[in-house]
Amino acid sequence: MLQFVYSSHPGRVVFGAGALAHLEREVGLLGAQRALVLCTPEQRAAAEEVARRLGPRCAGIFDRAAMHVPVETARAAREAAARLGADCAVAIGGGSTTGLGKAIALESSLPILAIPTTYAGSEMTAIYGVTEDGQKKTGRDPRVLPRTVIYDPELTLDLPTGLSAVSGMNAIAHAVEALYAVDANPVISLVAEEGIRALAAGLPALMTAPRDLAARADALYGAWLCGIALNGCAMALHHKLCHTLGGSFNLPHAETHTVVLPHAVAYNAPAAPAAMRRIAAALGAAGAAAGLIDLERRLGTPRSLAAIGMPADGLDRAADLAVAAPYPNPRPLERAAIRALLDDAYHGRAPADTGENP
Ligand code: NAD
Repeated sequence: MLQFVYSSHPGRVVFGAGALAHLEREVGLLGAQRALVLCTPEQRAAAEEVARRLGPRCAGIFDRAAMHVPVETARAAREAAARLGADCAVAIGGGSTTGLGKAIALESSLPILAIPTTYAGSEMTAIYGVTEDGQKKTGRDPRVLPRTVIYDPELTLDLPTGLSAVSGMNAIAHAVEALYAVDANPVISLVAEEGIRALAAGLPALMTAPRDLAARADALYGAWLCGIALNGCAMALHHKLCHTLGGSFNLPHAETHTVVLPHAVAYNAPAAPAAMRRIAAALGAAGAAAGLIDLERRLGTPRSLAAIGMPADGLDRAADLAVAAPYPNPRPLERAAIRALLDDAYHGRAPADTGENP
């Protein structure tokens, strides 16, 4: 019997090629007069363009956003916001830059306007993370949810194809796990399915034509939906594995998601047949895990944990950590099977048994 809880989350989305032109209007609608623009050092030029558009409404640029939001950076950004009298933060970039905006908002309640330039989806979530002494602490707080998001596919035209591919697979992973989440609900399931479909259409086209605006729009549209899916449901085994591998072995975020996803899906397939059918349908494939493997082949993404820096002697510890304090998951976690999954992922072997009957 259908039974669910669904919460909607406030937020305004402005989507479309050239949407950055609406920036000044959107900052005005937030009631802000002095925006602090956030970016990584690599995206300083994009931040300067944002500052130029804001004119007198720009309080300054803070260009030190970094992966996993180091606590020192968050502190420095908060100090800059206070010193400059900022009344809003404009974060232009990927999940790292949005994450820095969230770290500021968490303690100051400064509204965030996010302008995503990757497919990570952080701009749609109330999930924050800050790293201190090598430990990433994460949590949920409605204050960190960006108030406005401007999605402009033109800003993604120069996202390198390799990064586009793994960032897109990271997004797909959010939607996949939302479909078999313990708190799955019909609205988020629709959103998740459409998110996978849009990314599976857009990403392969980008590999040969990275500046194809229609394909970029498909991928960014999918990323938006997958971000909603991430915020809307509890994540399961796949995210537990990726958090373990990223946190304990310092593996790169999006690449880890990419390598692990088909394996986590194959593991869960026997316990979540309805979700698998929806994932497969969204991928246009006969099976969910097989469809993901096929998509990753077309994208040319890394296939093994070994290739992205996992030490072979860490697999036992990773298996122990993954089964300790597990996230809710459709199939119970069995240590031997998780260890075997990690072994396949380490060597880049296809999952032994996808548990599906294509
Ligand atoms: P990222 O933000 O670290 O960006 C990677 C690099 O790509 C950076 O140097 C960045 O400046 C550059 N870049 C971004 N967009 C570009 C573009 N269009 N053109 C050229 N270069 C560009 O990478 P990410 O994968 O977007 O984010 C990963 C981080 O986000 C991780 O720390 C992850 O934990 C976090 N995240 C958080 C959530 C959440 O809900 N809180 C969701 C997803 C990811």
